Amino acid sequence: MCEYTYENGKKCRLKPLEGSKFCPLHIPREEGETLYGEKIREIKEKAFEKRLKVGQSYFEGVDLYDVKITGYTSEKVLVFKNSKITNLILDGSSVKGLILINSKLERVVTFESSVETIFIKGSSIFGLNILRTEFSGHITVRDSEVRYLMINSTQYRKSDKESEEKAYSETEKVIGNIELSGLTGVRKIGINTKYPLLRDILKEHGIDVSERKEKSVRAETLIIKDISFDISPRYKRRVRLTVADFYGRLHLENLEVFGHIEIRRSRLFSPEFIHVRIESNLIIKKSFIVTDSTWSITVLPNLPIELEVKGFIIVDECQFNNPQAEKLFYRLARTSWEKGGDREIADRYYYLEMLAERKTKLKSRRKGLKKLLNWMEVGFEWLFADLTCKYGTDWKRPILLWLAAVNVFFPILFLLTASVEGISGQLGFLDYEYFSIVTATTLGYGDYHPIGVGRAIASVEALFGMFMWAVFLTVFARKYMR
Ligand SMILES: [Zn+2]
Repeated sequence: MCEYTYENGKKCRLKPLEGSKFCPLHIPREEGETLYGEKIREIKEKAFEKRLKVGQSYFEGVDLYDVKITGYTSEKVLVFKNSKITNLILDGSSVKGLILINSKLERVVTFESSVETIFIKGSSIFGLNILRTEFSGHITVRDSEVRYLMINSTQYRKSDKESEEKAYSETEKVIGNIELSGLTGVRKIGINTKYPLLRDILKEHGIDVSERKEKSVRAETLIIKDISFDISPRYKRRVRLTVADFYGRLHLENLEVFGHIEIRRSRLFSPEFIHVRIESNLIIKKSFIVTDSTWSITVLPNLPIELEVKGFIIVDECQFNNPQAEKLFYRLARTSWEKGGDREIADRYYYLEMLAERKTKLKSRRKGLKKLLNWMEVGFEWLFADLTCKYGTDWKRPILLWLAAVNVFFPILFLLTASVEGISGQLGFLDYEYFSIVTATTLGYGDYHPIGVGRAIASVEALFGMFMWAVFLTVFARKYMR
């Protein structure tokens, strides 16, 4: 009988291979290779398939090459403990769970399968790929060494049994979550990233991946915390965290990323950043950030301290339901670009920040007269600060406005109201234009003068001309004079 002893003291009772003390599953690869050469791969594969067929789902201390489980349906949890496997592929299968404990694997792939839970702990895995997998419980990868971790098109589906589970408050918190925590040596974590290399590997194993079937990743909460990334000089800067097409709450905690964190095309509910340091850039693109009132009170004030980005922050084509969050994200982006010395882009964020600020004012809960005053304030701000020069970020705008108003708008107004008199009896359009320029620049030669309503128009124009000139000088000087 095979001499492998399980942790609980029981012996493996399978028939040992000829010339060895161990069964095909437990015989170490090296020993098998010296005894049987390349043939040992086939022997091990067959032996594993047989065990699976007779209903065994708990594997402890096994040493295997490729384990490909296809079209397998079981009410049991598939467990690998203290095991060594080169490639573990679960394809088109439905199991209650997949548990890997204290095991060493090169690659783990789950593909087009459905599980209740995936639980990985104390293991060492080079590439962990959870692709198109439906889960009704949780996915937890904890206290393990994982180099490349990828989760694509994987969604949480509420199961019918959920109400029963909810009885335990402890499980309730976990249900629907994807938790990646306590991982070491990580080079890349990708949610919905492309995988050309893996696609070729899967093809070799007879799994054809067509890109059209890609879906978003959905979970109640995606928790990524206490990750220690590979800091060897060669990989340090390439360390990345990418979240794309993700739908759910995002919780990042205790991370120090040397490369970028990138969030794309996602719908994030109340994202939390707790002690997150990014040495390169933080990029948030085409995403919708939805927050609730508790988030505004607890997370928002701490965000500038908890989220530290050494490089740039890019917030591009994003939407927010909360203008205060919008304002803060744009402000963080602006200050990062100011620090980096790019005033042009910093100005763009400043403008967006001001727009968000205006939205905040409009959303305030004041009532009655206070509300009216509030609206008026916003109106004035729009007129004088935004329309004239985009909050001091656009110096061309006051010039263009000045030229258009003085050369076209006011002359036409004077002409239509026939409110200018001068030395020559009949006035042509150029005379009106001349009068308009003289008024706007407050030259006041006196060869033409306004009458009737023209006096009011001329007064407005004089104020306008002076004001816009001042605006232009200020904005221009701010931009080009150092
Ligand atoms: Zn055995």
